[in-house]
Amino acid sequence: MNKKVVVFSQIDSEIQARLEKQYQVVVLNPKNGDINQQIRHEVVDADAMIGAGRLLNESNLAPATKLKIISTVSVGYDNYDVSYLNNSKIWLANTPHVLTETTADLAFTLLMSAARKVPSLDQWTKNGEWKRTVAVEQFGQEVFGKTLGIIGLGHIGAAIARRGFHGFNMNILYHNRREKIEVAQQFNAQYRSLENLLKQSDFVVVAVDLNSESKALIGVNEFALMQKHAVFVNIARGSVVDENALIEVLQNKQIFAAGLDVYQGEPLQDSPLFQLNNVVTLPHIGSATIETRKKMAELAYQNLVDALEDRTPRYLVNENF
Ligand code: NAP
Repeated sequence: MNKKVVVFSQIDSEIQARLEKQYQVVVLNPKNGDINQQIRHEVVDADAMIGAGRLLNESNLAPATKLKIISTVSVGYDNYDVSYLNNSKIWLANTPHVLTETTADLAFTLLMSAARKVPSLDQWTKNGEWKRTVAVEQFGQEVFGKTLGIIGLGHIGAAIARRGFHGFNMNILYHNRREKIEVAQQFNAQYRSLENLLKQSDFVVVAVDLNSESKALIGVNEFALMQKHAVFVNIARGSVVDENALIEVLQNKQIFAAGLDVYQGEPLQDSPLFQLNNVVTLPHIGSATIETRKKMAELAYQNLVDALEDRTPRYLVNENF
């Protein structure tokens, strides 16, 4: 009997076709009713699951009897209850590295767009409001040579630092829970406490993974430390930031602007952010290029096949048991 694979979100069509040739594949679809109910139903006799963007924990995985692996098409794995998976002897594998550069590109896109008011001036031009030269209210913030503070100098954080250092001659500051001396040397990056990084940076970019210590890391008190001309960018996870505090800070023009790819609730709907022209809101597209999404799908496929063929997947998140 063929092994059963549950596809729990839309995945690359070629990868899905390959899976369908090898395994019995069930594709879940929110159009067919409550997704968690579908998961509980299909997971009972599933050997593997692949996808992204769904909360998977005891509440929907408990009926599983022989699930060996969940292969997430993402580097972030905060949607999964890792300790439950450990206890249940279910592997969780992710897709690091292949999305680092493209996500760093997106961080810089947000930084530049927010600094130079790209979306609002684009709209202004298209609205036919360009009747004379731009006024001072439409001027942006200079990026070249400024101070870039990176919270979370990991893979993506380092790729952002590289862009800032080599491309824009920026002075790099960073904050992690532990200093990253070797990586930091490459960009002459200086370690700062969170407080000092926020006080001293012209641009603050959040690139941490979401964990118990990074949850709500940036709130009212942290925004209060930032400079009035500063630009804040979050490409990490929405829950790292107190979104209501950020909205207030932007409404009061306490900082210059923000660029966001991630939110506390996604997809973002009816948010007060939509009323603000000093924030750039993107729909969680950090890794969403044709090339990178292909590479991520390929890696997730390899992780899944390895597990089903009794090899240890290359990128295991949890323990190797
Ligand atoms: P990574 O290499 O693990 O880097 C994360 C960094 O955050 C680590 O260096 C970690 O260092 C630091 N960190 C964790 N908690 C911290 C805290 N409380 N304070 C300060 N630093 C902290 O991961 P990555 O590949 O760069 O990815 C980072 C995250 O970006 C992912 O987990 C994912 O959530 C997000 N992401 C988003 C998109 C998107 O589409 N927007 C795309 C890809 C990834 P220490 O442990 O030393 O503190």
